[in-house]
Amino acid sequence: MCGIVGILGTHEVAPLILEALKRLEYRGYDSAGIATLQHGQLDRRRAVGKLINLSDRLVHDPLPGKAGIGHTRWATHGAPTEANAHPHQTGPVAVVHNGIIENYRDLRAELSGSNFESETDTEIVAHLCAGYMAQGLAPRAAAVATIARLEGAFALCFLFQGEDDLIVAARKGSPLAIGHGAHEMFVGSDAIALSPMTNRM
Ligand code: GLU
Repeated sequence: MCGIVGILGTHEVAPLILEALKRLEYRGYDSAGIATLQHGQLDRRRAVGKLINLSDRLVHDPLPGKAGIGHTRWATHGAPTEANAHPHQTGPVAVVHNGIIENYRDLRAELSGSNFESETDTEIVAHLCAGYMAQGLAPRAAAVATIARLEGAFALCFLFQGEDDLIVAARKGSPLAIGHGAHEMFVGSDAIALSPMTNRM
């Protein structure tokens, strides 16, 4: 198990996501990462090992933005390296994922012309979604079309370049809690992760 946090906020989200990921540490993990949107541009930082490594990285190379997704990874497909850490990004799409995409080999074969940067099952999700967007689907529709292709158990969050007000979250067989704030929205692997930010789950 790993942890997922997403925030559409009114403050800088990277520190908030980091704090929320710490509340998910009990689930175990081997690497971590955060992606944010700043003026519509996606950017991400990832680090192997404990969250302190990611937090050190963020001190030297901050990640501004009021919308973001974060992840603690428990590797199932590919070693615990920075390249395999989430979020995975393909073009305008960044994805964090908890679980296993069981049909990822078939999907990867279908996308054999694509450049894969990791050994994970997760990266296929970002590639599929970016492919649907390249065919003209809007981000939300592209995410829906992508999720329909996936077999297995998963919790997923998508963040899209140019869409500062949108996180698409989906789950099948893995938990995700949604939190409502004042002009803010939260998503996380459990309610405890979100509890300091809202009590409306
Ligand atoms: N299967 C994915 C991976 O290996 C996600 C693992 C997890 O749940 O952290 O990257």
